[in-house]
Amino acid sequence: MLDNLTQRLAKVVKTMRGEARLTEANTAEMLREVRLALLEADVALPAVREFIANVKQKALGEEVIASLTPGQALVGVVQRELASLMGADLGPEASQLSFAQQPPAIILMAGLQGAGKTTTVGKLAKYLREQKKKKVLTVSADVYRPAAIAQLKSVTEQVGADFFPSLATDKPVDIALAALDYAKRHFHDVLIIDTAGRLGIDEAMMQEISAVHAAVKPIETLFVVDAMLGQDAINTAKAFSDALPLTGIVLTKLDGDARGGAALSVRHITGKPIKFAGVAEKLDGLEAFDATRMASRILG
Ligand code: GDP
Repeated sequence: MLDNLTQRLAKVVKTMRGEARLTEANTAEMLREVRLALLEADVALPAVREFIANVKQKALGEEVIASLTPGQALVGVVQRELASLMGADLGPEASQLSFAQQPPAIILMAGLQGAGKTTTVGKLAKYLREQKKKKVLTVSADVYRPAAIAQLKSVTEQVGADFFPSLATDKPVDIALAALDYAKRHFHDVLIIDTAGRLGIDEAMMQEISAVHAAVKPIETLFVVDAMLGQDAINTAKAFSDALPLTGIVLTKLDGDARGGAALSVRHITGKPIKFAGVAEKLDGLEAFDATRMASRILG
């Protein structure tokens, strides 16, 4: 069992009462514990390094108010810095979706196979219909797995949105353009385009999704990533972020046990806001992302 960070730091904190400033010496041991906690939460190493360097820079020389020990002061710096990296300072607008001035607003979903894209399309369609009163059309540009098209049809019907059928023999770009044309003619407010994901990153997949992006110019390009993804999160995020101008992230499967270090790795690479969290398989399992709660979860 892993010690939780606060307990871990408490052990170190006891040895540090009565010091008035955070110094290199009195923080080194605690920063080692923070580093370990982040690695155990599966935050990728480059993101851990950057985080520790930032905390150190913010903490050193900081005066410790009389009621706190240096340890408590450092825990405060760690928590604030992590919440801020998770997006706590971005303000509530950061997690809002943008809608085009001229409907339909197009949302393009990107991510590896199994990340939760199709499920998230259903959840978003439900949210947009019920909370934002939008008329929503979905389409699948996944021509490789006929089951993927059927799955999207099923989740779309479950939430009462409209589904644009695509043929596995069509090209993804043509499918996206045909759906856009249909959405315009039928006055949909939002068109959500689900795309093929591969099990690993693959050049052809990246070119294909870039071509879809170039053809329809979505206002939102959301990178869907599984919170249980470990060290690989950083490479996956880099590949998608290099191929596409992402506008936000959806972190899925937060109902699992993973501490969710992937969130920090993905923020480190993309700098884009995490807009939503998937918290259940069911189609009502979508929440606005809570940066402060995520920071506590990663710290354990
Ligand atoms: P895609 O290949 O990216 O389209 O992924 P799917 O939408 O098919 O999801 C893959 C699996 O993850 C399915 O079994 C989903 O039910 C499950 N899933 C997706 N999002 C969540 C979530 O937030 N929580 C849980 N527990 N399961 C999820």
